[in-house]
Amino acid sequence: MPPSGTDDAREDAVAHDGDGQRGERTGRETGAGDPAGRAPDDPVDVLVVGGGVAGLTAGIYTARADLSTLVVRAGESILERNAHLENYPGFPAGVNPRTLLEMTEVQAERAGCTVRTATVTDLDRQADGEGFEAGIEGERVTARRVIVATKNDTGFIGDLEGLGIVTRGSKTYVDADPDGSTEVEGLYAAGRVAEQAHQTVVAAGHAATAALTLIDDSDRPYYHDWVAPEGYFTDRGIDVPPGCEEIDEEERRRRERASMEAIRERFERPHPDGPTPHPDQTE
Ligand SMILES: Cc1cc2nc3c(=O)[nH]c(=O)nc-3n(C[C@H](O)[C@H](O)[C@H](O)COP(=O)(O)OP(=O)(O)OC[C@H]3O[C@@H](n4cnc5c(N)ncnc54)[C@H](O)[C@@H]3O)c2cc1C
Repeated sequence: MPPSGTDDAREDAVAHDGDGQRGERTGRETGAGDPAGRAPDDPVDVLVVGGGVAGLTAGIYTARADLSTLVVRAGESILERNAHLENYPGFPAGVNPRTLLEMTEVQAERAGCTVRTATVTDLDRQADGEGFEAGIEGERVTARRVIVATKNDTGFIGDLEGLGIVTRGSKTYVDADPDGSTEVEGLYAAGRVAEQAHQTVVAAGHAATAALTLIDDSDRPYYHDWVAPEGYFTDRGIDVPPGCEEIDEEERRRRERASMEAIRERFERPHPDGPTPHPDQTE
């Protein structure tokens, strides 16, 4: 990322002129990333398989880039086994991991994702070679691109031609590049399933990287996902680059109040649920 305010940043922003959509804002306020509004047979732009911190973070980025995004999660995230999360930045005394997951899911929905609880049972290329078709508990859903964020579940993608699956002990992983891309065009892997370190912030950060790789491949006009104060670009004669937004002081204060309210509600009382035990733990 070029440092803001430098010639690099300016040139990078202006370089988006060529696509004729310079300065276009994302439609995140309009909920344009919500696949609920699509016709039944329309493909979603992005299917995210997995709703742990990796899948939800990937969805936040793709939906905010105006790609219709469906997040499907089978159930438990491994993070629900954690007792108290003390190394995720931004929480000086740690945070209840179940609270963090719930807040991240709300954030994904606010960004425009549809989040659904179901199991993806199989994933194939569509017959015309474009995009994918997923089996979701008896229903067929088509998607232009897919992000796999399932920690160690690779059974549903095992038949995809060209995809590398790495087996280590009892665990399987997707053979992915550091940027999340795989040998299968349009298929990405994020978080632990992409052999990333078994840490929450790493899973989230890698998922953001994988989502940004996907956005880049989608040819969506994009600079960065930034919210800047009014005039940050325009006072310097630069149109607001795609993916970015300038907000005035009144709007900044409104958003700050809304964020304080959202946090206050979540932290008013302890989370009702404790950690999920390991399946091998006896009573
Ligand atoms: C006891 C314990 C304590 C931990 N403590 C810490 C800690 O203190 N700090 C730290 O940084 N990390 C900790 N971790 C590690 C951390 O929880 C993981 O690294 C992180 O949660 C991985 O995120 P992920 O999104 O890749 O996977 P997950 O959070 O496991 O998400 C995987 C998602 O995929 C879904 N899924 C799987 N298969 C399918 C399918 N076929 N269809 C649809 N959905 C599917 C699952 O339901 C889930 O939603 C701990 C882990 C454990 C077990």
